[in-house]
Amino acid sequence: MRYRRILLKLSGEALMGRLSYGIDPEVVQGIAREIAEIVAGGVQTAIVVGGGNIFRGVKGAAAGMDRATADYIGMLATVMNAMTLQDALEQIGVATRVQTAISMQEVAEPYIRRRAMRHLEKGRVVIFAAGSGNPFFTTDTTAALRAAEIDAEVVFKATKVDGVYDADPKLNPTARRFESLNYNHVLRHGLQVMDGTAITLCQENNIPIVVFDLSVAGNICRAVQGEPIGTIVGG
Ligand code: UDP
Repeated sequence: MRYRRILLKLSGEALMGRLSYGIDPEVVQGIAREIAEIVAGGVQTAIVVGGGNIFRGVKGAAAGMDRATADYIGMLATVMNAMTLQDALEQIGVATRVQTAISMQEVAEPYIRRRAMRHLEKGRVVIFAAGSGNPFFTTDTTAALRAAEIDAEVVFKATKVDGVYDADPKLNPTARRFESLNYNHVLRHGLQVMDGTAITLCQENNIPIVVFDLSVAGNICRAVQGEPIGTIVGG
């Protein structure tokens, strides 16, 4: 494996599979098996999981809700995803801890940075839930923040496409996939990698972002082994 400590960002939609809402247990089990492989390979693995398969604050606000309240609901949604992923990992023997940015001690540990790092050193997967604990942020930004905090070498952004393109590949057959990009190019052209806050945080802390397609079986392992299967954003 190429990396020692990584941060894997899984969107809520990644857990949804072909459903239009919620969680597909089979999809989660598949993701858990791939994570088990990289953990067995000695990679210290932290995960930030999104909540878009259940609730998004922006959507709630668009429907007339108070934005901050809607965002808190979105953060709670990520906890359900985190617990589902934890269950799937533990079922196949991978020691896992969920840490939440909003405390709910009956179901998970609170986020404690040094404790998270100790878990990682002991080979436990740490799943960060409830985003950053702050409304008006995203789980992409949380991924960048936690990666910087725990000293991860890289952020892996698992998506539905195999990297970043110069145009929409579904609309434009000549669209070209970038193998590598720099942060400024992504920011200047508003390319769909992560939101701007997340990109800036990664840039300031020199953390590369690897965008890859999660829907191809085995890709988490390939990406962590350093195979050029997606787009790498760096300095
Ligand atoms: N959220 C938030 N603060 C955070 C992270 C997330 O308020 O630090 C809320 C926000 O409403 C967001 C929702 O949680 O829409 C779910 O997260 P996100 O949309 O990032 O999930 P993903 O797109 O990765 O599934």
